[in-house]
Amino acid sequence: MADQLILIEGEQKMATDVPMSCTCGKVKGMIRGLSPASTNHVRCPCVGCQSYAHYLGRADDMLDEGGYSNIFQMNPRNFEIHEGHEHLAAVRITKTGPLRWYTDCCKTPLGNTFPRGGMPFLGVLPICTGFKGTSPEVVEMVGPVRAVGYEKPPVPFGSKLRTTLMIMRLFTKMMIWRIREGKSWKPFFDEHSLRPIKKPITLTDVEREALEAKVI
Ligand SMILES: [Zn+2]
Ligand SMILES: [Zn+2]
Repeated sequence: MADQLILIEGEQKMATDVPMSCTCGKVKGMIRGLSPASTNHVRCPCVGCQSYAHYLGRADDMLDEGGYSNIFQMNPRNFEIHEGHEHLAAVRITKTGPLRWYTDCCKTPLGNTFPRGGMPFLGVLPICTGFKGTSPEVVEMVGPVRAVGYEKPPVPFGSKLRTTLMIMRLFTKMMIWRIREGKSWKPFFDEHSLRPIKKPITLTDVEREALEAKVI
């Protein structure tokens, strides 16, 4: 791991380059400059995230006992894929949900994006760094969980406030990345059309309902 001292929004943090790999090793890359300042670590118990874990057959790896996934949101241009592009796949669990990118060789989740390129956003599932969501190594890389996305009701006021602050922080970062670097396309979209580099898989209603039946 290469460490470098970087300055982000006035905060001095140690940023780390972390090797990225699917579980079987066919897809490999590097996540550049990970630090608590450059990312947004969240947890999500939503139906889409839980259904996705069941879709991949990796609920044991991706979900805790409450059905929560850990995700760290980052600038997608720092998520580099060096090998195994032919194994990339994307699924849309719901018609309006994110594109969820994974590897078709061993069903390792990589990250979630908008349906098109343009705005820089990537929500990474930590498994591709070799660690489960809440392991101390993940917290060391991207800091503690800042908030819960799509909290199950009833949601206490403190939790709502944390989520609002987290979303404001994320949107500020996205605007800074967009202004500084222009339209976002790496690593999952075509540079010119901003369309996904792989045609997303869409589920039938029957398939989606079968996954949702496993949601807690
Ligand atoms: Zn693999
Ligand atoms: Zn979710």
